[in-house]
Amino acid sequence: MIVPFLDLQAQYRSLKPELDAAVGHVLATSTYVLGPSVRAFEESFAAFCGTRHCVGVASGTAALELLLRAYGIGQGDEVITVANSFFASAEAISLVGATPVLVDCRADDALIDVDAVEAAVTARTKAIIPVHLYGQCADMDGLRATAARHRLVLIEDACQAHGAGYKGARAGSLADAAAFSFYPGKNLGAYGEAGAITTNDGAIAERVRMLREHGMPRKYEHALVGRNDRMDGIQGAVLGVKLPHLDGWNAQRRAHARRYRNSLADSAGVTLLTEHPDREHGYHLFVIRVPERDRVRAALAEHGINAGVHYPIPIHLQAAYADRGWKRGDFPEAEAQANDVLSLPMFPELTDAQIDAVVTALRAAL
Ligand SMILES: *Cc1c(COP(=O)(O)O)cnc(C)c1O
Repeated sequence: MIVPFLDLQAQYRSLKPELDAAVGHVLATSTYVLGPSVRAFEESFAAFCGTRHCVGVASGTAALELLLRAYGIGQGDEVITVANSFFASAEAISLVGATPVLVDCRADDALIDVDAVEAAVTARTKAIIPVHLYGQCADMDGLRATAARHRLVLIEDACQAHGAGYKGARAGSLADAAAFSFYPGKNLGAYGEAGAITTNDGAIAERVRMLREHGMPRKYEHALVGRNDRMDGIQGAVLGVKLPHLDGWNAQRRAHARRYRNSLADSAGVTLLTEHPDREHGYHLFVIRVPERDRVRAALAEHGINAGVHYPIPIHLQAAYADRGWKRGDFPEAEAQANDVLSLPMFPELTDAQIDAVVTALRAAL
């Protein structure tokens, strides 16, 4: 049995008439950049997250960068994020001229270690960017306490956490502001590049609105030096069709995760990450830890099963940051996880038979 890591075609097939009509409408009305489809999606996504504002932008990376700029963070400022994330979590900090300060993750849930954040705060620290990695929210109570104690801006990197929950509230509404990516493979995926910010702060939303479009409050008036980071009309239309299905898709992901977890609970050699009962996991990825990860991954591939690795090189060991002086051993838990994490196939349309095939092949490979 072939089990892909992810299947973007299944979702398109299930919504084809609505998606084709929505995209066709953008083409027929020539509303290619921003426009009514983006405006409508912004309103629905703000309501979905439980925030007053949402601003659609060009990508998740742009969302993080524009938020940092909107908060006035730049040269000479330090921003704390976690060593085991997609590179963009730190890259956005560098893009505004600020200094990324990395901390380690926790062994049990792979999420940012709040005690390490507290220890990393200096007089130059301006913000913390926790990552809701794999779709589970970070320890936001702990992070909010640290942010309040040191008067820091708290920005969620919610790029993997569309629809995830924390004590009854949604990702995107848990901090001063949040950044989302709608890259096609995310839980809510566009058909190209797209992202958004959410916040309850009207002034920050307005600044991001200006910054995404050359610092323009009104056409051809430039109050700030901004960027060209607008969302396409086609992406707004696609996202608007998909959003009402997100909770259902996430429920399917959680059911798949339950099946994986039940089947793997007693497998010697497999370590499952902690799923916190007070956080609704979005299961963007289903990640386990296994010794000899690369050999196990290759054995799965021989059975037609595609597993992934998120991420094989922690941020502090990336060549792009060679000048920062970070070295092996600086963040031991992030390094250990880079060596043993394995992402099993996970998407809403995955079948029980496919999950069982993955489990059987995995057991045989251990
Ligand atoms: C995908 C992702 C991003 C970047 O989003 P893009 O839309 O690809 O720019 C940032 N942070 C995390 C954790 C991500 O998974």
